[in-house]
Amino acid sequence: MYVCTAETRSFGRESDRSAMSIEVNNVTKKYGSQWAVNNMSFAIGKGEVVGFLGPNGAGKSTMMKIITCYIPPTSGDAKVCGFDVMQQGIEARKKIGYLPEHNPLYTDMYVKEYLTFIADVYRLSGRSEKVMNAIDRVGLEVESHKKIGALSKGYRQRVGLAAAIIHDPEVLILDEPTSGLDPNQLVDIRELIIALGREKTVMLSTHIMQEVEAICGRTIIINKGEVMADEATGNLRHLAGGESYDLTVELSGPMEADVLRSVRGVVAVKNIGPQQWSIRVAGREDVRKDVAELAMSKGLVILTMTRNEVKLEEIFKSLTSSIK
Ligand code: ADP
Repeated sequence: MYVCTAETRSFGRESDRSAMSIEVNNVTKKYGSQWAVNNMSFAIGKGEVVGFLGPNGAGKSTMMKIITCYIPPTSGDAKVCGFDVMQQGIEARKKIGYLPEHNPLYTDMYVKEYLTFIADVYRLSGRSEKVMNAIDRVGLEVESHKKIGALSKGYRQRVGLAAAIIHDPEVLILDEPTSGLDPNQLVDIRELIIALGREKTVMLSTHIMQEVEAICGRTIIINKGEVMADEATGNLRHLAGGESYDLTVELSGPMEADVLRSVRGVVAVKNIGPQQWSIRVAGREDVRKDVAELAMSKGLVILTMTRNEVKLEEIFKSLTSSIK
């Protein structure tokens, strides 16, 4: 298991409080005897787009509900833009736009009617301008005259996002925003979140590794209520045991595993079919020439050889399957 240091959690910006959009300190949440969040700490700087990645039941929604002032922590504290979620909930909420996992929309309302209602809840002045601005920002114009119930899941998510940004919050908390979307809708919503992330701090939960790769500069991986890793998204592969890749090789005749294992950089060898091998290579050095020379020295020809990066899903599994 990779254990976070205080430095990696805050990316060294602990001292600069004003730059922090979200601070979570030793937060726990217990439902009866069940620990949903267990002593979690992290900080998210202004303007960061951070993925909150974990398998189902990891505690993502619970943590987000605490940050958005919907439920109190059992212990610990959390702040949004410097406002304590327990002591200064009203101020904290003004800074937050929240898209819950099950986007609670009034399906009998028209899009504009619903967003006007949300603007009223926030007691915003200049409501119709703010409603039109939110509709424009999330690309809802073409569907804005319809009832919410008549919209596709992708457009319903846009309504949820419009409602989340209508008061122009500094921080967006998005709980599984692409869950249940078809592949086209998924791409559209991801692009929209990337665009919103250029102006706002975004914390987004997901159980899909590719999602954080597509959207987030930094990823906090959680499992069983605890932070397992907190890293720049580009470093995740390195984190899960170093850079590595797999070679799939098909030879013209039999070969022994030990001979393949003798190639420099090769850390594991698996026979996956008649004269077919999967070879795990640690590091980035290209060993294909060494494998070809080895085959030749044994009087064999390489029929096929392909190089595959280790899947991010595997990395995620290895980070979240540690014994806790
Ligand atoms: P995630 O969002 O990562 O799927 P959750 O925060 O929803 O995880 O849940 C974390 C754990 O807390 C799970 O074991 C879940 O069953 C439990 N849990 C969540 N909400 C409640 C609740 N209201 N009452 C009891 N247990 C809950």
